[in-house]
Amino acid sequence: MEEYEMTCSECGRRFRVQVTTMNVPGGKEREEIYCPYCNAYNGYRMTSGFVYTFKIDE
Ligand SMILES: [Zn+2]
Repeated sequence: MEEYEMTCSECGRRFRVQVTTMNVPGGKEREEIYCPYCNAYNGYRMTSGFVYTFKIDE
């Protein structure tokens, strides 16, 4: 699993992104990243698992 922080391109707040991977061959899909504060689209990751976003400060 990969975890990192991003800054929202819309509201400028920091949030945490977790990218999980599953060992499924050839099963990568486009998982979109949405800001957990304002729900703005912030790009995507290709992964066989899921993308989760978390607020860092409430
Ligand atoms: Zn935002």
